[in-house]
Amino acid sequence: MVKITAPVTADWVAAAERAARMLRRGYQAARVGDGVYRVRSASHQDTIHTVRIRNLGQLDATCDCPHGQHEGAKGQCWHKASALCQETRRLPRPLVSAEEIERRMARFARA
Ligand SMILES: [Zn+2]
Repeated sequence: MVKITAPVTADWVAAAERAARMLRRGYQAARVGDGVYRVRSASHQDTIHTVRIRNLGQLDATCDCPHGQHEGAKGQCWHKASALCQETRRLPRPLVSAEEIERRMARFARA
């Protein structure tokens, strides 16, 4: 089980939403090694990006896409979000009560 200790910022929510849209188009990170994922570029069909997860709980990952390489780039790329989502799916989940889910989802409530 993994506990996400990093704040789930608007950047990450946006990246995860983009990853979900890309998944519906057939794009998804594929695990190729321990914490290493490959994701096909949506804009350049022959380009594959490599995501390396350093710490899942802290949402700490690198991506070799142009956005990921740009120092001080705003936001997060969907490649990282896709890989992090895949990685969490690999791990066993504890049963969570409905109350606990409500409590967690409250973090995403809009002001
Ligand atoms: Zn990327």
